[in-house]
Amino acid sequence: ITFEQLGLDDRLVKATSELGYIHPTPIQEQAIPVLLSGTKDLIGLAQTGTGKTAAFSLPLLSILKEDKKYPQALIVCPTRELCLQIVKEIVGFKKFMKEINVVAVYGGASISLQIRDIKRGVQVIVATPGRLIDLIERKAVNLEKIQYVVLDEADEMLNMGFQDDIEFILNNTPIRESTWLFSATMPPAIRKVSKKYMDNPVEITV
Ligand code: AMP
Repeated sequence: ITFEQLGLDDRLVKATSELGYIHPTPIQEQAIPVLLSGTKDLIGLAQTGTGKTAAFSLPLLSILKEDKKYPQALIVCPTRELCLQIVKEIVGFKKFMKEINVVAVYGGASISLQIRDIKRGVQVIVATPGRLIDLIERKAVNLEKIQYVVLDEADEMLNMGFQDDIEFILNNTPIRESTWLFSATMPPAIRKVSKKYMDNPVEITV
């Protein structure tokens, strides 16, 4: 199977090809068609290195409203490093989608620069929980129109003590339609979060 066969926007197929991606990885092959078909909620059990970033980023970029300059998708991840890595991948994928803007929001860096970037009109926010909550409390970020929330490395986030933060974030996305949760493991605490905030999630294990 090739990227053309997955139903992605042609510009994304072109970008993946330029990045040297020839065949989708198993998580991409399984998750991308499901997410493009409008499946609301998904749990992906996948380790890092399996290509899960592309598995959620490519469908997101395919379905976002490019002409609307407000945040539509929120990706929450445990660390600054992962946040930057996800943004880097998205920047590669959106090469031919000039209207899409993405911002990285994480602690230990200038909040005013991040606020400025958000104000520029971003469709996608990639954030670590603490800094995102700081921005929510300062009313510097508007999650009112977020439709898609991705929780990446959910087990890591819970291990790091972010459970209340994750719930706060989910409770602050009033029109969230889809929640896509990726985790390497599925401890009871994650099951609990998924039961509370997700509706009949499709489960994919690779
Ligand atoms: P991830 O598991 O998302 O952290 O991805 C691991 C690495 O694999 C990243 O450096 C990606 O750029 C790369 N990658 C993801 N999907 C593919 C693919 N289909 N073909 C080649 N490389 C890929």
